[in-house]
Formats: sequence, C-alpha cells, structure tokens
Amino acid sequence: MVVLGIESTAHTASVGIVDEGARVLALASDMHRPAQGGIHPREAANHHVEVLPELVRRAVAEAGVRPSDVEAVAFAQGPGLGPCLRAGATVARMLSLAWKRPLVPVNHCVAHVEIARVLSGLEDPILLYASGGNTQVIAYARGRYRVLGETLDVGIGNFLDKLWIALGGTFPGGPAMEQEARHGADLHPLPYSVHGMDVAFSGILTAALALHGRGVRRPDLAYSVEVTAYAMLTEITERALAHLRGSGVVLGGGVACNERLRGMVRSMVEARGGTMFAPPRNLCVDNGAMIAWTGLLAHRSGCVASVEDSAVEPRQRTDLVATPWRETSAMPASSADPPERTPLPVA
Ligand code: AMP
Ligand code: MG
Repeated sequence: MVVLGIESTAHTASVGIVDEGARVLALASDMHRPAQGGIHPREAANHHVEVLPELVRRAVAEAGVRPSDVEAVAFAQGPGLGPCLRAGATVARMLSLAWKRPLVPVNHCVAHVEIARVLSGLEDPILLYASGGNTQVIAYARGRYRVLGETLDVGIGNFLDKLWIALGGTFPGGPAMEQEARHGADLHPLPYSVHGMDVAFSGILTAALALHGRGVRRPDLAYSVEVTAYAMLTEITERALAHLRGSGVVLGGGVACNERLRGMVRSMVEARGGTMFAPPRNLCVDNGAMIAWTGLLAHRSGCVASVEDSAVEPRQRTDLVATPWRETSAMPASSADPPERTPLPVA
C-alpha cells in the first residue's frame, strides 16, 4: 500500500507518493515564482489550484498506482498561508471522497522532521528547519515535537530573498546568493543576533544594505551575510544538542540546500562526536513525499479526519499536534504542557 501526500503551505504545490519502506515512488512539484517581489498568498493559491490536478495525474502515473493501492490521502494542514493550504486541502478531500480513502491531516514542520528521521536512520535527531518562512530548532521532548528556538522576526529564507531582491536580484535569492558568496573574500562584520535559543535577521538586513550603499562588493556582502547568519543557526543548534544531550542533527527547509550551512552544521556536530544528515535537496524543500510519509505514520497509528473535521490551521503549533507513532518511547507530558488539541477521530 502507498500513501499520497499533498503539500501546499506556501509557494510550492507538490504531490508525493511513498510506500511503507519510505521509498519515494513519485514526486511532482511546481513552485510559484512571482515575476517580481515576494509571494502573494492569493496568487500562490491560484497557482496551486491550477497545477495540482496535473501534479496528481503525473504522480499517480509515475508511481504506477491505482486508487485501490492507496492506503490514505494526506495533506499539509498547517502552518502556512491560509489560501494556499485550502487549495491543497480541497484537492485532498476530493481525492479522498472519489477514491473512498481515509483523509489524514499532517503538520508541515513535523513532516520535515519525519522524512529526515527515516532517511537518516537517526532515532531521535534534532531538526534545524531553515526555510523561507520558518527558522526553527525542533526536537522531540516529553511527548511532543517542540520548538526549542526560532527566529524572532523573519524566516532566514525570506530574509535572504528580500536582501537579494534589494541588491538587484530576483526570487529566490538563497541559491543565487550561494553562487555569489563563492566569489567573496572579505568578511564584513554584521549584527550577530542570537538571543538564547532564538535568532533575528532584520539587523543583518539593515546593516548589509548600508554596506551596499557604501560600495561593498556584492560577492563580499553575500559571503559575509552567509557566514554570519549560518553561524547563528549553527550556534542555536549546538545549544539544543547540548541541552538535550543529543547526538544527531538533521536538516530541513530550502535553505538547508546550502553547502556552507551544511558544512558548518556538520563540523559542529562532528566536533561533538555526533552525526549530521541532510536529505537530498528535493526532500529538503517543501515536498509532497514528506507529507505522504508522515501521513502513513499517522494513519497507521489511527489518525484520520472526516471532511468536516479537516479544516486547515494556518497557525498550527507544532507542540499541539499529537504524534502517536512516537509515543511508545515518550515520557509523559508534564502538567505544564499546553492543552492537547481536539483529538482526531480514530479509525
Ligand atoms: P522552502 O520555503 O523550504 O521551500 O525554501 C525556500 C527558501 O529556500 C527560499 O527562501 C530560497 O531562497 C531558499 N533557498 C533555496 N536554496 C537555497 C540555497 N542553496 N542557499 C540558501 N537558500 C536557499
Ligand atoms: Mg517547509
């Protein structure tokens, strides 16, 4: 049996099909790229509505599965942009009804952890999740996936994109800046904003633009920004490892495609005697395969939703989502924990 998963939280619409061995049988993705500026939620949602039917067709053909082979239809319930989430959820509900297959809502951040966890073989890794809209350090602790640290302002990817566009480039800025940074040599000091387990990027943005105004070369700027921002992420990941006495780190999110970030985190983890794993790039970025895999785990531990119960949750919090497939090894949640969200009906 296989699970089909639909991802549509932000700019990427994606359909993945995985089997019970976490093999990705098909992955069809299409990213909304605005002609200029950033992402407008409604425009991105219109893009998803347009491309999702074809992505489903492609994924089903590529995997060579029939509806009767499909165990469940999973979709990203949140967090994300409301209109984009609704586009994916609507397609998932339609498939679930048409194929008479259970519908399984999945938390997008948990899905980044689960795909990296199964591919890495690490039992209990810490996730550094560095994407466009999200920058978080997530770990499983006392019965929940918890956000141990995060950005206090913008996501790292949005910050890189914004800076790159201000420097005359186009979206997405991260990959182009990575190429540019390879030609940089002079490291210019930039605000290094680590606050305990949290980070902030707006100070770097302002300072980098000021340096640009003073004629600092773009390759040197890109280099200085990468080194500073990725050192901040490496530091909070190291602090999480130290606090949890962990030994494994996995990466997720589009910015985790970056070689410099991968190298810096790997050096830190290996210096502590641990293991670092970065999924292949098509599974680092937003993708339907991670939703399908997490949907499979969730479905096998009894999570399903009726169409009426499958509303999207744009602000869904990672630590309010039940993850029953991990509970066997879990310590009881403390009384100080936030209330459980309404349990999903059990199959
Ligand atoms: P996501 O939101 O996870 O799909 O990731 C999209 C973000 O990742 C965008 O902000 C991109 O600029 C960024 N990104 C993609 N590839 C790279 C890279 N090689 N280096 C840095 N940022 C990247
Ligand atoms: Mg993501």
